[in-house]
Amino acid sequence: MTKLLQTEVEKRRIFGIISHPDAGKTTLTEKFLLHGGAIREAGSVKARKNSKFAKSDWMEIEKQRGISVTSSVMQFEYDKKIVSIMDTPGHSDFGEDTYRILTAVDSAIMVIDAAKGIESQTKKLFQVCRMRGIPIFTFINKMDRQARDPLELMEELEEVLGIPSVAVTWPAGSGQQFEGVYDRVNEKFHCFKNDRLTIDLGEEGLANDQLASTINNEMYDTLVDEVDLLDGAGNEYNEELIAKGELTPVFFGSALVDFGITPLLEHYLNLSPSPTPRESNKGQIEPAQDFFSGFVFKIQANMNPNHRDRIAFVRICTGKFDRGMEVVLTRTGKKMKLSQSTQFMADERETVNEAFAGDVIGLYDSGNYQIGDTITNGDPSLQYEALPTFAPELFLKVFTKNALKSKQFQKGVEQLAQEGAIQVYKTEYNEIILGAIGQLQFEVFEHRLKGEYGVDILKDAANFQVAKWVKVTEISEVKKLTDSRTVLVYDRWENPVLLFANDFVYERFVQKNDGVITLVDSPQLL
Ligand code: GDP
Repeated sequence: MTKLLQTEVEKRRIFGIISHPDAGKTTLTEKFLLHGGAIREAGSVKARKNSKFAKSDWMEIEKQRGISVTSSVMQFEYDKKIVSIMDTPGHSDFGEDTYRILTAVDSAIMVIDAAKGIESQTKKLFQVCRMRGIPIFTFINKMDRQARDPLELMEELEEVLGIPSVAVTWPAGSGQQFEGVYDRVNEKFHCFKNDRLTIDLGEEGLANDQLASTINNEMYDTLVDEVDLLDGAGNEYNEELIAKGELTPVFFGSALVDFGITPLLEHYLNLSPSPTPRESNKGQIEPAQDFFSGFVFKIQANMNPNHRDRIAFVRICTGKFDRGMEVVLTRTGKKMKLSQSTQFMADERETVNEAFAGDVIGLYDSGNYQIGDTITNGDPSLQYEALPTFAPELFLKVFTKNALKSKQFQKGVEQLAQEGAIQVYKTEYNEIILGAIGQLQFEVFEHRLKGEYGVDILKDAANFQVAKWVKVTEISEVKKLTDSRTVLVYDRWENPVLLFANDFVYERFVQKNDGVITLVDSPQLL
């Protein structure tokens, strides 16, 4: 292990932003890039969001809908650290990809609208992060507008998400009366007014005279009272618990007016992990090693209409990537030369010649890769742990319009399922039911089946909302328990799955069959 490699790896950070649409993810991303010297970012993030970049015919969908299907990675440098932000698609492009991206990051920043609190999408994404045990940093945004009581917001974090929180910065007022934020760890007050003066409070803390005479009296008194409460009844600041993802540090500010971002960034860089070891069939693999390895967490088809290409997104887990290097795709044993590689920017790609553990690269793919694949120039039997399958919430029955095309239809369905674009279930009568997390996944499926396999499909409603995998039981027993609102299907690994019309039907089923049949949330739990 050379020292240079070690240094390169240790300065890497990689996180995803989780939030509900409109909480301010895009605005915050822009501010991060602005604060750091963006090293890979072309065009503004907003422009991408407004979809001026759609470049492929497949991206017609996103052009029409003004959204971005592509998830990109943006890198910036701050305080000698190289930070990658993985964009997690939101809005109507929310899908399984959004969840999967979170399997490739080492930490997450959760953005919450101060006037709204925890919203549905935040909750779902949070649960994925929690499952992985990665550190989660909370940024309560839009403090320049009238906000909800900050103590109430902290309580909501604990109650709705079930994670203990500790305020690292604390706001004095909000909206018109916003005076700034108090950094409890570094004993500083960042004024929002007064030319954004920063007051070093020193040992006096909030008793500091300069602070008392600078900010509005009423806001000052409230601040002192609230911080008193936090000191007495709040959780203690504990870096170890934060690192384990068991305590979320909370920051307040406003992405729009670029306030409170510096303390967030600085504490984030101080508390977030450099590339973490990853589980594999050979045990935990440390990142600072001489051999290169990584895993595919996303496959994006047809990014370029001229090439009909696919891009496999690889999170580098160990060592250094050099363009042109030879690796083994360990699932098949196939040797691959990595000559066409890119790093992603807001709306363009650029050839990358070298990258390190903790970076994400895109590899051109002519159909070799699958989600979860490991590539390495080390041990050819290395396989990183499988990526989780996420229980779908939307279902759709599909058929081919033209019976003569059923072969292409089957092939397309199989490939798109392997790619991880959609989940596929077969009924006992060989009907195909698709499962998705976001509606757009269905549209992309339909569009690609037509574009790439020349198959038109017919759709039929599949009125289910809940999927549960069945743990070892006599299938004939399971069949006896099904009816029109509970059907038995099989996933692509032939695991039995029960689809339920809704939560109510599912819960009643569980009550009735307690002890007879065990259901789990994903095939990994079988
Ligand atoms: P996203 O959907 O989470 O990416 O949210 P955006 O970053 O696009 O923000 C949604 C809207 O909220 C936009 O109109 C932003 O200008 C606005 N916004 C974002 N951050 C702030 C903030 O700190 N204060 C205020 N007042 N508005 C904000």
